[in-house]
Amino acid sequence: MIPRLVAEHHNASPAEAFLSYLASAGLEGEIGRSAAERNVFATDNSIYQVEPAAILFPRNTDDLKRIAKALARPEFAEISVAPRGGGTGTNGQSLTSGVVVDCSRHMNRILAIDPVRRVARVEAGVVKDQLNKALAPHGLFFAPELSTSNRATIGGMISTDACGQGSCLYGKTSNHVLALRVVLTDGTDFLSRPVREEELRALQARRDRIGDIHRTVARITSNDRAEIERIFPKLNRFMTGYDLAHVQRGDGAFDLNAVLCGSEGTLAMIAEAELNLLPIPACAALVNIRYDNFNAALEDARNLVALDVASVETIDETVLRLAKGDIVWPRIAAFFPDDAIGPSNGINIAEILADTPLELAEKLSAVTTALENNPFPGRKGFTTTHGKAEIEAVWTMRKRAVGLLGNVEGPVRPVPFVEDTAVPPENLAAYIREFRALLDSEGLAYGMFGHVDAGVLHVRPALDLTRPEHAALVRRISDAVVALTRKHGGVLWGEHGKGVRSEYVPAFFGPLYPRLQEIKATFDPLGQLNPGKIVAPAGKALPKIDEIPLRGALDRDIGNDIRAAFDNAAYCNGNGGCFDFDADGLMCPSYKATRDRRFSPKGRASLMREWLRRLAEKGIDPRREAARPQPLGFVNRLWNSLNPANRDDFSHEVRAAMDTCLACKACAGQCPVKVSVPAFRAKFLALYYKRYLRPLKDPLVAAIETTLPLMARVRPLYNLVAGSSAGKAAMRRAGLTALPTLPSISVRRTLARQNVSVATPARLGRLDEAARAGAVVFVPDAFTEHFDPHVLLDAVEVARLLGLTPFIAPPLVNGKALHVHGYLGAFEKTARRTAAAIDRLAEAGVPLVGIDPSMTLAFRSEYSGTGMKARVLLPQEWLATVLDRLPSPAGGERKRVQLMAHCTERTNAPVATAQWKAVFAKLGMELVVGEAGCCGMAGTFGHEVRNRALSETLYTMSWQPALATPDRAELVMATGYSCRSQVKLMDGVRLPHPFQAIRAALQERLTLPLGGDATYDI
Ligand SMILES: Cc1cc2nc3c(=O)[nH]c(=O)nc-3n(C[C@H](O)[C@H](O)[C@H](O)COP(=O)(O)OP(=O)(O)OC[C@H]3O[C@@H](n4cnc5c(N)ncnc54)[C@H](O)[C@@H]3O)c2cc1C
Ligand code: SF4
Ligand code: SF4
Repeated sequence: MIPRLVAEHHNASPAEAFLSYLASAGLEGEIGRSAAERNVFATDNSIYQVEPAAILFPRNTDDLKRIAKALARPEFAEISVAPRGGGTGTNGQSLTSGVVVDCSRHMNRILAIDPVRRVARVEAGVVKDQLNKALAPHGLFFAPELSTSNRATIGGMISTDACGQGSCLYGKTSNHVLALRVVLTDGTDFLSRPVREEELRALQARRDRIGDIHRTVARITSNDRAEIERIFPKLNRFMTGYDLAHVQRGDGAFDLNAVLCGSEGTLAMIAEAELNLLPIPACAALVNIRYDNFNAALEDARNLVALDVASVETIDETVLRLAKGDIVWPRIAAFFPDDAIGPSNGINIAEILADTPLELAEKLSAVTTALENNPFPGRKGFTTTHGKAEIEAVWTMRKRAVGLLGNVEGPVRPVPFVEDTAVPPENLAAYIREFRALLDSEGLAYGMFGHVDAGVLHVRPALDLTRPEHAALVRRISDAVVALTRKHGGVLWGEHGKGVRSEYVPAFFGPLYPRLQEIKATFDPLGQLNPGKIVAPAGKALPKIDEIPLRGALDRDIGNDIRAAFDNAAYCNGNGGCFDFDADGLMCPSYKATRDRRFSPKGRASLMREWLRRLAEKGIDPRREAARPQPLGFVNRLWNSLNPANRDDFSHEVRAAMDTCLACKACAGQCPVKVSVPAFRAKFLALYYKRYLRPLKDPLVAAIETTLPLMARVRPLYNLVAGSSAGKAAMRRAGLTALPTLPSISVRRTLARQNVSVATPARLGRLDEAARAGAVVFVPDAFTEHFDPHVLLDAVEVARLLGLTPFIAPPLVNGKALHVHGYLGAFEKTARRTAAAIDRLAEAGVPLVGIDPSMTLAFRSEYSGTGMKARVLLPQEWLATVLDRLPSPAGGERKRVQLMAHCTERTNAPVATAQWKAVFAKLGMELVVGEAGCCGMAGTFGHEVRNRALSETLYTMSWQPALATPDRAELVMATGYSCRSQVKLMDGVRLPHPFQAIRAALQERLTLPLGGDATYDI
């Protein structure tokens, strides 16, 4: 049995008085003090881990002012805060042992969009893609691009002066900031915008903090102009972090925002920003050029830039290989074909933008003609990409590159610390050659990609930072790379800001460093804003890159074996891909509905890591505990659950985070590192409930699959309970809600009447070859069979209409509910039994077809430990193999139908929707896939009382609006049984399964019956 893990309390922390003061001062936002919250905010995407004392979640600018005014009180002079947005920094920018101010949870409103002036005003926590989604209907966009655009906030982008692909055309974030509303540490609320001389004089004359700041910055930029000119590099990506070179603008204005942009939360807290918007380019195309080696790609990049393209991105062989295994690859594979002489080892992607199709055609022709007429050694060929969706898919692959690098086996993983150097583009190829030689000389693996047009290189050497000798390499390589960038006229901090790497600031800025310190001291005299970043107070040194605690040092306690046994939880690198803001995106529903980072894959992975570490500290191997028999199990669990001492147990905090997980598996399919929360959650729950009693609903849910056939036998009684108010009340008491009633039909009896045989190995084995080729075995799950039998009957009918002989598998227990709830022992027994039965059925070679995507895909993931060899196909996978049997209609108008695919199949079976499209296209219908996230039901999740509110929130966030405005479709279908139940429950609408629509189409019927009591038109 796992021991109690005492949760650390911070009541004694000096921050506690500060937090209590804030609460009494009327802070509207929440205060996070729990061990779990502090743990989840202890990491970003960097190699470091620093636990904050607490987290504040301000609701508005007034809250920021309350925080600042509290900081200004003498008794809190020692308290420091670090603002935080998406937490996607790669160099520890937002990490602090002080108090985190998370502007992302609540301060994420788009305040105004003025499409005429092309200006938007937003709060600091607005995510970049969120803004662009809102701007799209106006034909506008916020131009600075970055790979983390679906979770990085405008506040974070401004504070790191972010940019990425397209920076040569569009510049950096600071180029698009018109005004900043900032809160200073004395509580001043100031709107900073470029000012003319007279206004500047008025500001300088003020006798307050604003006056001090303007006097100091104006004096330095005027007196030290020569040094600024000499020291600030002349790169396309000019220097970020107190950018003194751009305060005095070419047009004569004085722009304090140049200093604020890139200041990494060290000068002020940004509350709002006024941003410049640009029209979305009307037309775009990509030219995807393949090379036989990466150096050739780098060398050729200069030729491409000379062709006046909008941007050039490059990818090396390692990233390309990883991209080929990624979920996005099937959508873009055609643009990166393998050549007869072998696969490509480097790619350049050139982007072409134009205002009209004609202009685009001309520009594209100029580029492709130049490529054809001027061969370059190593250049193998190219393709072009047109169409918004296709172009977006190529950029998605490029954006996922960093994450993909983390998708490797074992403890040696790519880590960021020299990942964003910039040199003048003309020096890039030579610089990279030396960089590679440096990494090769250390024997390190790495992948490379970058913005070649801007001279920016992304590289993450692969290290295992639990190993002291690898940890030492961070210093050695950083120092060498700093020297190399200086040699080639570049900088270490080319894109992602300085963070912990500020150690190199004093040497780089030399005589200007004291001026930077002066600026910091004027803005923040007590050094309370994000200390340790960019500059240190006069007389003090900045922390060194090897003085901040490494994540790896903590992971060392866990050990590699245990890290490997918990489904990549320990390898989450914090890139924040799972914080996707978009309600219509698939990752991660529980985070989207709560905006609580604990309830995200990263949050759960962090907590799991910490839990494993705390167990390791006590010498506990969780795998051994899982296997250990517990003779007095119930008595122990009862005692542990009743004992008040056990209220204080870190495991409860971990369980609370796991409870809100829908087990939708979007993380397992879409996280670039393949962090699989459902997998490690099941292992955690199994261990947790060896120590504590389970809630009553757990055994009920776990048993539902096995008891359904029995309940079907006493259907009237079951329906009386499930349908009556007394029955519902009793169910609610047990923790279950919204249980469906059973329809008055028995699939098996109906199928028997229709002469559909039950598939047995012997029966299938007796079929001759031709009969086998013309047969199909449906493997229904208990839920579809009992609650939604018409889907199965229609599937059988579809097979018949296609001239095939349908069989039905004997009742098999899938066991998914057991797995979800952590009944791992029972699940393993069930899964082994079912896997063996399916394998026996599969011996005859007749295709096996599941109905529900989530239950069918369980045979591929949850069953991976059973050794099951057979593959149970999704309906569309099977239909794709019999496409030639589907009749093609003779002309006429194509019906448009919409599919609401189950999120698990969309995230874990990459070609699933394309196959459905092919099937419906063959039937003369155009299928569109509804853009929606998770419906919120997710198996039994939405049937549990404690989850119902979250489940309904999710439905209203995405599915409800999607169904309210179907995409000009005549019919909307859903593949998931849970999804159909949720729609029926929430909106009273029955959506058909695609099998039902196909049956109707095959029979050329206009009206399709839905289980006797409803019909819909097709
Ligand atoms: C996989 C990956 C790819 C990346 N690609 C790019 C890229 O293409 N281009 C690029 O520029 N960067 C990139 N980054 C780095 C990172 O995403 C950017 O620096 C981003 O701008 C950070 O935004 P955030 O909201 O996550 O900020 P955070 O990481 O939360 O914070 C970053 C800094 O901003 C400060 N800050 C945040 N909010 C405020 C506020 N309201 N007021 C004052 N200070 C604040 C913090 O204190 C911190 O110093 C990448 C990171 C990852 C993990
Ligand atoms: S869970 Fe995956 S997507 Fe989320 S932060 Fe970790 S590695 Fe990134
Ligand atoms: S399974 Fe779904 S809800 Fe759970 S962590 Fe993964 S993405 Fe989030």
